[in-house]
Amino acid sequence: MQSEVPSLEPVSLIWLTGAGCNGCTMAMLEASEPGIEDLILGNVPDAPQINLIHPELAMESGDAFRANLERAAEGTISPFVLVLEGAIPNESLAGNGSFSRLGKFSDGTPITTAAWVDRLAPRAEAVIAIGSCATWGGIPASAGSPIAATGLGEYLGSNFRSRGGLPVINVPGCAPTGEAFIETLIYVFLHLAQLVPLDLDEECRPRWLYNLETYPLPPRVEYPPAAGLDLSNRPTVRCPVPVKGWMRSYGGCARVGGSCIGCTARDFPDRYLAYARPDPAF
Ligand code: SF4
Repeated sequence: MQSEVPSLEPVSLIWLTGAGCNGCTMAMLEASEPGIEDLILGNVPDAPQINLIHPELAMESGDAFRANLERAAEGTISPFVLVLEGAIPNESLAGNGSFSRLGKFSDGTPITTAAWVDRLAPRAEAVIAIGSCATWGGIPASAGSPIAATGLGEYLGSNFRSRGGLPVINVPGCAPTGEAFIETLIYVFLHLAQLVPLDLDEECRPRWLYNLETYPLPPRVEYPPAAGLDLSNRPTVRCPVPVKGWMRSYGGCARVGGSCIGCTARDFPDRYLAYARPDPAF
């Protein structure tokens, strides 16, 4: 179906949250030059002004907030781009309750995150998964998780295409840099306006951001060759942070004495989180 997003026409950005920590929202708010506020004010050349519909940042709450989502699900708010932060729990394991919900249907049953995704994703011009929970399932999908969550791409299936003809766009990281997300979002807008191609890699990540390899390393260990470590057999993960930094090219995990835990990787909680533990040799 042809995208309805014309260049410079306002677009709604609908933000859903599933099983996560809201760290991606915090990261998104940290982005600068441009930041989300520049998009809201319409200050980014050739990008549309956005109307942000976000559960934690909205002025409305309760039913008044949920009415925005209902209007989008009914087609009254259009066009919009859908963003999911957090994983989608397996609600069949929730017994009589639910793991993640926002509001109720008229019969009193909860509207789960999965139900909102079902209602909104087919109407979205583009669907973006922000963070490793939304992309791959993350910690809520790690071994032993009682909610057996999944990422958005797995939930919607590899054949899913948005109204703009795009697969689920993955911006992984725990959290990813807000600037990577904003940059991706602007490219999506430009792509929907048929101004630029959107180059996604085999994992549906923005290729130009996730083409840089880094090594998961414990904290306060010098990078080779100064440390004399043989990293030839160590796994690598792709992440823009070691080169682009966290914000305005400053900061970022191992660059400031922290550890790289490989948080952008599909299996990071089970495979890479051990790297975050201090090495007893140091
Ligand atoms: Fe995650 Fe490592 Fe990238 Fe930091 S440098 S964001 S820990 S993959």
